[in-house]
Amino acid sequence: MTATQATTVRDQLYIGGEWIPPATDRVFSPVSPSTEAALGRAPEGTERDVDNAVAAARAAFDDPQGWSSWDVDTRAQAMERFADALDRRGPEIARLVSGQNGMPITMAEAVEGAFPAVALRYYADLIREQGIEERREGVFGRATRVRHEPVGVVAAIVPWNFPQALAFVKIAPALAAGCTLVIKPSPETVLDAFVMAEAAHEAGLPPGVLNIVPAGREVGAYLVAHPGVDKVGFTGSTEAGRSIAETCGRLLRPVTLELGGKSAAIVLDDADLAQHASEFVDATLQNNGQTCYLCTRILAPRTRYTEVVDTITDIVRSLRIGDALDPRTQIGPLVSERQRARVEGYVTKGRAAGGRVTTGGNRPAGLDYGFFYEPTVFADVSNNDTIAREEIFGPVLAVIPYDTEQEAVAIANDSEFGLGGSVWSSDTERAIGLARHIQSGGIGINSYSHDIGSPFGGIKASGLGREQGPEGLAAYQHSKTIYNVP
Ligand code: NAD
Repeated sequence: MTATQATTVRDQLYIGGEWIPPATDRVFSPVSPSTEAALGRAPEGTERDVDNAVAAARAAFDDPQGWSSWDVDTRAQAMERFADALDRRGPEIARLVSGQNGMPITMAEAVEGAFPAVALRYYADLIREQGIEERREGVFGRATRVRHEPVGVVAAIVPWNFPQALAFVKIAPALAAGCTLVIKPSPETVLDAFVMAEAAHEAGLPPGVLNIVPAGREVGAYLVAHPGVDKVGFTGSTEAGRSIAETCGRLLRPVTLELGGKSAAIVLDDADLAQHASEFVDATLQNNGQTCYLCTRILAPRTRYTEVVDTITDIVRSLRIGDALDPRTQIGPLVSERQRARVEGYVTKGRAAGGRVTTGGNRPAGLDYGFFYEPTVFADVSNNDTIAREEIFGPVLAVIPYDTEQEAVAIANDSEFGLGGSVWSSDTERAIGLARHIQSGGIGINSYSHDIGSPFGGIKASGLGREQGPEGLAAYQHSKTIYNVP
């Protein structure tokens, strides 16, 4: 079934609190990955647009009566108005995201349409609770005041897979801290960004506090290095993250990097995967395999290997593939033709290395349009195989056998990445005990789901710094100490 979608045409950029003409007539023309139909068009930002946006954010930040100087309650109230305005647009945002990137609509409604407001309200509450100044008794007898001041103008660069949620884990803490922002959405998902701007405008955020310039990677690199920027928040590939880190290193510019992953799900010998089937799908294949923290390496005990492979195969084979906008769809298309070709290349490599495909491994029959690919399970994979080492960013799972728990931990940790992970067991304490040994920024028990109240991020090639939780607010603040105070 093909759900229809109206086209959207945008011809102005939201900069300095106004809708203004872009510097050139270049446009992005996104295409539906479900139907290959044109979805509309939006301006492609250029370096001149970035200059304008950074100047607007700079002026808003430097204004002595402006956003950064507002008392925290007034700022928090504005954030709550922004949250309300986004809530009203939740269904529209979800449809636009799902239409552009192929995320199943039910998930887009639950995450992309709803999470931004949750993030804004969480950080509004947190900044009220924490305030920006605290008094400390001095060790040498004189007290200090420690102020948590905003870092300044933030460049927030986000990918296409969760364009709203990943923007708001930057926007919400940055606004709470008193920063101003230039947001650069990815070319694949530009249309939803304009709705975000409308909500910000309706909420009455002061001009220049939030500016949006959809653009490609060269313009992104220009924004990262811009002299008017004080902090970079980036989510995307490890390759781009390294390049951004080099720039920020040279400039001594603070940066938070949320990058790629190749996480492991350790299935213990007492696990009942069938009982947790829906959590297992979320942890391994969510968003058509296009999620950074997915556990795409499944470590199964050799004593139960065949049974675990069969259970996973049955779970994955039962998933319904279809148009992302169809509410019955569990697996939508990949974001683009190029992304599907990349996934197909990895499946070829997996087969060549001796991996056994137990389900999937092809384009689905009967879907003549769109960038669909069957969710695929490989058995008999070694952790040294390419499909177990590199991030595929598609619906491809590799089931790897292990003999002892110690070996399972060693395999899980034998990765360039360290973002997520999960342990599956009917004994929670046993699972937590094992989780302590996994080298990653986060790990789930019989699931993988993060929580805005606790830090999220990666180690090794998965990133630097943390988003979410109080740690995510601290990433947009710097501490200033006033010595010798009453
Ligand atoms: P990408 O790195 O190609 O692009 C991400 C964003 O960065 C886009 O807006 C792009 O235009 C921009 N960009 C690319 N190169 C840049 C550069 N040198 N300077 C400045 N901007 C640049 O990644 P993608 O293909 O869009 O997204 C998928 C990747 O994102 C995967 O590797 C995935 O694991 C990762 N990701 C990580 C997290 C996390 O929280 N750790 C979350 C989601 C996605």
